[in-house]
Amino acid sequence: MTKNGTKWIGAHVSAAGGVQNAPYNAREIGANAFALFTKNQRQWKARPLDPSDIDLFKRRCEELGFSGAQILPHNSYLINPGHPEEEGLNKSRSALFDEMQRCEQLGIPQLNIHPGSHLRQISETKCLARIAETVNIILDKTRGVTVVLENTAGQGSNLGNRFEHLAEIIDQVEDKSRIGICIDTCHAHAAGYDLTTPKAYRQTMEMVDREIGLQWLRGLHLNDAKSELGSRVDRHAPLGKGTMGEEPFRQIMNDDRLIHQPMILETTQPENWATEIAWLRSL
Ligand SMILES: [Zn+2]
Ligand SMILES: [Zn+2]
Repeated sequence: MTKNGTKWIGAHVSAAGGVQNAPYNAREIGANAFALFTKNQRQWKARPLDPSDIDLFKRRCEELGFSGAQILPHNSYLINPGHPEEEGLNKSRSALFDEMQRCEQLGIPQLNIHPGSHLRQISETKCLARIAETVNIILDKTRGVTVVLENTAGQGSNLGNRFEHLAEIIDQVEDKSRIGICIDTCHAHAAGYDLTTPKAYRQTMEMVDREIGLQWLRGLHLNDAKSELGSRVDRHAPLGKGTMGEEPFRQIMNDDRLIHQPMILETTQPENWATEIAWLRSL
């Protein structure tokens, strides 16, 4: 039987007007988990968080019952932890350090990041080592925040589409207590990992466990896909309305291994999030 009370379901909500607005936005859609950007995701620099906003964020999370583990912030799209060039790499590292500090200040124990891209200038192996080095540097300079590596669709020269990539990075991270993974269902599908039938779901999850290890799991992104299996095209669709259909989400909601993991919708129609969350809970 489903234990949906132990499933933490939410969406990547808006933090417009300040991070302190995110918990209310999450409550409005019936979420018991959420993601947010702790700064404008399309700009390199941001003002430090205002202490009163930090305070309000923490108080609202407490009031609404969001523990730190139920919140999975997403890093800026500009950051490339595996950047092939010195300048881009340094810029990415300082931006990531800033985002980790923001999480620390907000009392959020994890940050979801995209592993990085070799931009066709360095080898995959070298790029993966560079990503791990970035993680090591950042973890060394921060306390209490886990870096969560998200699997990707493998669009362009992005790494992280193969489960082996994530395993390779984890392998090279020194502090294993602060590294984890997040599985994005749309990205997995686009990368060629099938979740669309009970059998395919079981096999793909076995692959995650064998090649990386489910003990590293710190969250999921629940998205249907507009693109085909193995297309390496990253296009999210509303749940059950894309090329993946309803089955992957039924499987996830009934998978007892996935309790106490923030499950975040990044689907394309925020106005439907409340309905999508209620639907997930009904499975
Ligand atoms: Zn992402
Ligand atoms: Zn995602």
